[in-house]
Amino acid sequence: MLFYFPDSQDQIDPTFDMEREEHPPFHVRQRDDRYAHEALTLRAYDGMLVSKAMVDGVGGSSGRYTVPQRHRLYRQGAHRFFRLEASEGPPLITLGDCGAFTYVDEPVPPVTPDEVIDFYDGCGFDAGISPDHVILAHQSDLEPTLPGTDDVDPMWKERQAITLELAGEFLTRHAARGCTFEPVGAAQGWSPSSMASCVEQLQQMGYRRVALGGMVPLKNPQILEVLEAVDAVRLPETQLHLLGLTRVEHMHDFARFGVTSFDSTSPFFRAFKDDTDNYFTADRRYTAIRIPPVDGNAKVKRAIKSGKIDHDVAHQAEQRCLRLVRAYADRQIEMDEVLEALAEYHAMWDGRVRTDRYIETLRDRPWETCQCGICAEVDVEVVLFRGTERNKRRGFHNVAMFAQTLRDKLQEGH
Ligand SMILES: [Zn+2]
Repeated sequence: MLFYFPDSQDQIDPTFDMEREEHPPFHVRQRDDRYAHEALTLRAYDGMLVSKAMVDGVGGSSGRYTVPQRHRLYRQGAHRFFRLEASEGPPLITLGDCGAFTYVDEPVPPVTPDEVIDFYDGCGFDAGISPDHVILAHQSDLEPTLPGTDDVDPMWKERQAITLELAGEFLTRHAARGCTFEPVGAAQGWSPSSMASCVEQLQQMGYRRVALGGMVPLKNPQILEVLEAVDAVRLPETQLHLLGLTRVEHMHDFARFGVTSFDSTSPFFRAFKDDTDNYFTADRRYTAIRIPPVDGNAKVKRAIKSGKIDHDVAHQAEQRCLRLVRAYADRQIEMDEVLEALAEYHAMWDGRVRTDRYIETLRDRPWETCQCGICAEVDVEVVLFRGTERNKRRGFHNVAMFAQTLRDKLQEGH
């Protein structure tokens, strides 16, 4: 089972000064920064998924690459640009996709198969997914027998027809242009049987690897229902990729149904988008300690502006939290002292009490035993919910822990 980590142009600056919260002068983004596979000592993923929408911008989105970065990616190729050889073990592989969610609201995809091939071929990807049009709807095949639920929206059918037409053209142009990257057919459907029919048609075109899209909102039983239907038409040699899915508990079932790879940004983004479960370990999830910078947090700024709190008082409370949490990590003070300081600062801007969760994080000191390579280096800073350099480090750590959980799950029962 291969795990691809989608590139979101998120790197960390290894020279960032945690005490002074400063980048060194002359720091150059991306060049001096580190990707997760460079920052972690544990191998966290097998490959990177890179989206055309992220690099080139698609359908009105501008992408997240600067013009010079984009030119360098095309000039150097993905392997050199992402410094994939820096990782220990077998070289990381690359998979390209269109980023169909960026144009989900458009009537037709604003990309041609040739433009997509220009991207995959131009950047030297190992594999690339045919352009598709996402269908954001799902109904069980059982439901159409119920009165009033037998409608299939004509738009869903049209989107699938567009997806198949583009897949056909993509394969023809791939052959005509003599491309060497592995073509992966994108499948879209609104039910188990419609997804199976899409996969069947992609196989008839000649695809032997198919990416199943639009499944992120589905519940586990629905995903398994789709995979079961697909499995009934799947040729033995056809391999499946699950786009954007992280359901570790079902990886064995997925493998049984021909899934050989998947991708997800979820473990990374949980580090700063999940309110409570934002620091992973192999067996549980902890809550990172929020110490937002007074001058960099919208809530704190609002409280100051409205006169609810005084800037200098808030700043002192924030600095006190930082000082005490570091002193606790160094075993110089008791936990209660930190908790009191945190409660005092939280009361100023948020009022939410997370003390029970903070007690667990502080008591267990999970950063001390973590082998990911980041925690040992920055110590307690990794569990501080505060600013991008710390949050991304925790995100990378989470990706490594996710990979560990995945490996453990896959080994169970073998
Ligand atoms: Zn770690």
